[in-house]
Amino acid sequence: MSTPVERAENAFIEQIDGPIASFLNSCVHCGLCAEACLFYTETQDPRYTPIYKLEPMKKVWKQNYTFWGRLLKNLGLSKPLTEEDLKNWEPLLYDSCTLCGRCSMVCPVGNDIAYMVRKSKEAMVAAGYAPQGLKDATLRALRIGSPMGITVDAFKKQIANAEAETGLKIPLDVEGVEYLCMLSANEVMMFPEIIAALAKIFDKADVSWTFSSDSFEATNSGLQIGSSDVERQLVKRTVDAAERLKVKKVISPECGHAYTALRWDGPNLLGKPYSFKVVHILELLDELREQGKLTVEEKYEAPVTYHDPCQLTRRGGVIDPPRNLLNTLASDFRDTEEHGVMNWCCGGGGGVSANERAKELMVTAFNKKKSQIEKIGAHKLITACANCRMVLEEDLEENDMDLEVLGLTELLAEHIKKD
Ligand code: SF4
Ligand code: SF4
Repeated sequence: MSTPVERAENAFIEQIDGPIASFLNSCVHCGLCAEACLFYTETQDPRYTPIYKLEPMKKVWKQNYTFWGRLLKNLGLSKPLTEEDLKNWEPLLYDSCTLCGRCSMVCPVGNDIAYMVRKSKEAMVAAGYAPQGLKDATLRALRIGSPMGITVDAFKKQIANAEAETGLKIPLDVEGVEYLCMLSANEVMMFPEIIAALAKIFDKADVSWTFSSDSFEATNSGLQIGSSDVERQLVKRTVDAAERLKVKKVISPECGHAYTALRWDGPNLLGKPYSFKVVHILELLDELREQGKLTVEEKYEAPVTYHDPCQLTRRGGVIDPPRNLLNTLASDFRDTEEHGVMNWCCGGGGGVSANERAKELMVTAFNKKKSQIEKIGAHKLITACANCRMVLEEDLEENDMDLEVLGLTELLAEHIKKD
């Protein structure tokens, strides 16, 4: 039986592809990525320099893919990968990286550091090194279909509550409609108001849609823990449900990592194109707004600002829809100084918020967002990721800051013109 170190080394070798080899080869050690990472800027701890988080991967690359590295390895003159390396780097990869990709934006030689962190996690998982909270969430996702352990019955109860609140029939398992609507685990559990908000908006805009009892959550803990196998299995559940219901489109929810897994990674993981299109909920809402199907009753007057979920904006390209919607909904929408693709992360994505050990560091990293918010003077902080929302609420409370955080879909549902 292989040892954890052997498993990690083999996984690193499997993951090191052409782009990674070229990234590692072209690093000029300028340190610019450090200033782009909130875990470094808010702690000044050099261990949180993005490229340093990749040292174990770099060691394996050098010893297996470079001439001098191989020579030294064969002569027994270089230090092999050790359990100590895995133990020391596991917190760096899981606690101090949200896969936000901000460092990748500033690297002068174009290194995609977030991509390499994601790939390094594959080796950590192969060796059994990952935070307990993420391991538990992944097991629940595989066994129950939800990282938070939400059962179909619990979901149906949330639907019944939303039906009672809105007086609308919420479609479940309806075949042949245009859209299959997905939610995130955090939405079902922490912010179930989203179900009523979606029902009101879709009713108003006459959207043909359904939820599925076979797959109602798009949250993907496989992506967060760093296991392509798990990520593939979880995406496949949604794809199977969409195919069974014969929908034309699947709506990715207000969840950053769900969008990356479903929209970008899914077809590659499954090795085939989808039979349907994936749209983010904000893309759909913006389209409905453009078509004149959602008019606003009364604009929100106090200043509002927007937190860009990294996977949605920087990594996913959904930049204009939230701004179009906010400018329609609010008379005083204020973007933060660094916004859009260069906005700062909430500090809790990529599985960090599910990792109890990282709590203190996550709260420290929030200081970056805090100073952004303080400068803008907003009365509401709007976002489009339930995980960001939860993290921001928790951090604001830790800092005794009285600011309401709200999902954009909910804000829209509050302000659209009723019949
Ligand atoms: S992806 Fe984001 S959190 Fe991770 S190292 Fe880069 S800047 Fe830091
Ligand atoms: S910014 Fe790029 S080149 Fe500079 S240290 Fe970081 S990874 Fe290396």
